[in-house]
Amino acid sequence: MCVLGDNVLAEVPSVLRQVWPDGRPIIIADGNTWAAAGREVQELLETTGLQPAPPHIFPAQPVLHADYVHVSELVPVLTGKTPVAVGSGTINDLVKRASVEAKTPGYLCVATAPSVDGYTSYGAALTVNGVKKTVPCPAPVAILADNRVIGSAPLPMIAAGYADLAAKIVAGADWHIAATLGITPYEPVAWDLVQKDLRSWLADPEGLRDRQPAALAALFTGLAATGFAMQRMRDSRPASGAEHLFSHVWEMEGLTHQGEAPSHGFKVAIGSLISTAMMTAMFAWTPEEVQRRLATAHATTTEERQAQVDACLKNSPFAAEVTQTAMGKLLTGTALAERRQAILKAWPEIQAKVKAQLLPLDELRRRFQILGCPVKLADIGLDKAMLRHSIIVAGMIRNRYTFLDLLFEMGQLEEQIDNCRI
Ligand SMILES: [Zn+2]
Repeated sequence: MCVLGDNVLAEVPSVLRQVWPDGRPIIIADGNTWAAAGREVQELLETTGLQPAPPHIFPAQPVLHADYVHVSELVPVLTGKTPVAVGSGTINDLVKRASVEAKTPGYLCVATAPSVDGYTSYGAALTVNGVKKTVPCPAPVAILADNRVIGSAPLPMIAAGYADLAAKIVAGADWHIAATLGITPYEPVAWDLVQKDLRSWLADPEGLRDRQPAALAALFTGLAATGFAMQRMRDSRPASGAEHLFSHVWEMEGLTHQGEAPSHGFKVAIGSLISTAMMTAMFAWTPEEVQRRLATAHATTTEERQAQVDACLKNSPFAAEVTQTAMGKLLTGTALAERRQAILKAWPEIQAKVKAQLLPLDELRRRFQILGCPVKLADIGLDKAMLRHSIIVAGMIRNRYTFLDLLFEMGQLEEQIDNCRI
């Protein structure tokens, strides 16, 4: 159940009664989300006789992170109760996993900002011993989003949500590439959930900036639909392509800007601009141009790839895991020759699909600027050298086929990085 509307907070007690008639609710919030909606919900639960347990409120400062240590802290607190997560991405991810470990019959989420697509998805993005992982756990039984609360969220959170939703444009282009090459087939229901109305959800950044209810509703609906698509596939493919891989690299490497890690949405905004710039450049190639490039393209050997992985990841705690992934997907010899033939054959089809999918780079940048999203490398603490490193490493860390794999297999990645201008 996912409800967005006016006066939705007032429905929290009846939803709890209906779904968990014998449960004793407990609110989990942080200092900010307690002020945004938590206190009000606590009072509602008390006045309607639900006898809530004392709330568990994380401090507002330092900023709460979705670290597994907080899951461990929550498990004994939630055991035997009905968790009510009041917050956005972080609180929801912590309660999502802790509810499973505490063996509660699910939990209720009261959303406080349209900032992430993870409310409705299966799995929680948590840092476990320093490594970012998607840990399995079911989505909340019910998500309640009150227009007044969502509309009062800080603008950077709304902007981050917009960027995470806008990322589905380039993510869709990456899926087109993988599907056309027969590597990751489309899942039509998940595709439509995200892509069918994506353009209209993203159409009004000015309205979002001005906190117009229709624009906020469109954003929240889009983020929720994306979560449902991931839940359906039990995979993040419908929501994430290379732009999210860049963001994962920056998370792994602890990127900060002015002492703080940029929000997920802000990293993905820069990632989406990079993907748009690189895909626009490569898909300007005619099939003849592709053929000409492939005729002289270098074929990376196993030894060369190993050396490249070692050079990029020396001293990294993720070296072993990334090496396995990067080497596992390396094509050489006949397999590479066959892949290059397949790419050449499919090029006109991929090209047409990607061109129809992408927003022009200037337009994407304009929309991000309206909302105060980052649009330059320096806005999230990156420089040219870090960009180059990030693009190369992003192609190593996961088995998700994106334009980065396509360029790498064509022997064109290095040259195209040099041409990447956002
Ligand atoms: Zn995301």
